[in-house]
Amino acid sequence: MKALVKATAAPGLTLTDVPEPTIGDRDVLIKVDRTGICGTDLHIYNWDAWAQKTIPVPLVVGHEFVGEIVAIGERVDYLKEGDLVSGEGHLICGRCRNCLAGRRHLCKDTAGVGVNHPGAFAEFIALPATNVWKHAAGISRDIASIFDPFGNATHTALSFPLLGEDVLITGAGPIGCMAAAIAVHAGARHVVITDLNDQRLDLATEMGATRTVNVTREKVENVQKQLGMTEGFDVGLEMSGNKTAFNDLINNMSHGGKIALLGIPENDVAIDWNKVVFNGLHIKGIYGREMYETWYQMTTMLQSGLNLDPIITHSFPYQEFEKGFELMNEGSCGKVLLNWA
Ligand code: NAD
Ligand code: ZN
Repeated sequence: MKALVKATAAPGLTLTDVPEPTIGDRDVLIKVDRTGICGTDLHIYNWDAWAQKTIPVPLVVGHEFVGEIVAIGERVDYLKEGDLVSGEGHLICGRCRNCLAGRRHLCKDTAGVGVNHPGAFAEFIALPATNVWKHAAGISRDIASIFDPFGNATHTALSFPLLGEDVLITGAGPIGCMAAAIAVHAGARHVVITDLNDQRLDLATEMGATRTVNVTREKVENVQKQLGMTEGFDVGLEMSGNKTAFNDLINNMSHGGKIALLGIPENDVAIDWNKVVFNGLHIKGIYGREMYETWYQMTTMLQSGLNLDPIITHSFPYQEFEKGFELMNEGSCGKVLLNWA
């Protein structure tokens, strides 16, 4: 089968033939229909320091996908051929304390599809049946293919109650923009989002953000005043991985404000801990998606009118993958899909 492989320890990916995966008793084989390019894939493509120390070579990469089940293991009785599914990209041990307690997103031994396990940028992918999410009727294939990052946005945005709250999101990448749409859907009052890139802020507006802030021109403090806010934001969502953005959050929260951190910083980040202590801030790290409450929430939000369509800005046949990665490197896009059908 055709697959995009990190073939050598160097920048780029190679489109090549690899053997079709085989399945065990408890696995399913999925024919991949379309895939999303994630920031993680871009790190692997660019072969940065994180990728160099994390990715075993050779490896089929990619983890955001939708496809149809074409074969099921003998001991799988609740899925069938033809089911339209996506994969939860975190493979868990199933035995540690958190797994046994049902807190599977906190497994101590998580492995990643397309990171240290064969990935989805291929014509077929094999996964344990327990890692498969069967889509409800009516979910579009484009949106189904990005349930993984949509899940990051959902897990982060719904970490704290949002009804009537003022929300500050730092970083209007695809995940920040989706989080803005979710926060509005969940009943937040002001949903303010920051970035340095006007194109991405325009996309955030299209997704429903009520106010955008280009931090190269405007200060969040002043925006608060313009909005008539006197005590700061109730909920903060860090979705840039940038240290200045994290400090923008810390500096603009109400006392007792709640912050969820999804963005992955490159290096250590210094913050004013006095503000955390004296303002009684809550800070929560977010990794992946809750299995499978987040997946349930994504489905029901779409069914109750959440519209994510504007976030998908480009789609290419997989043979033209390089165009997709170039766009991602320029930041001149929302989500970029690769079509494998
Ligand atoms: P992205 O890189 O496309 O978006 C980040 C955005 O932040 C960019 O638009 C960038 O211009 C903006 N930004 C940079 N500096 C800024 C600043 N000072 N203020 C405001 N915005 C600034 O990333 P994405 O795909 O949307 O993902 C968001 C973050 O979440 C990334 O850091 C990613 O690595 C991380 N992530 C974490 C998990 C997890 O499980 N914790 C999963 C997926 C992604
Ligand atoms: Zn575990």
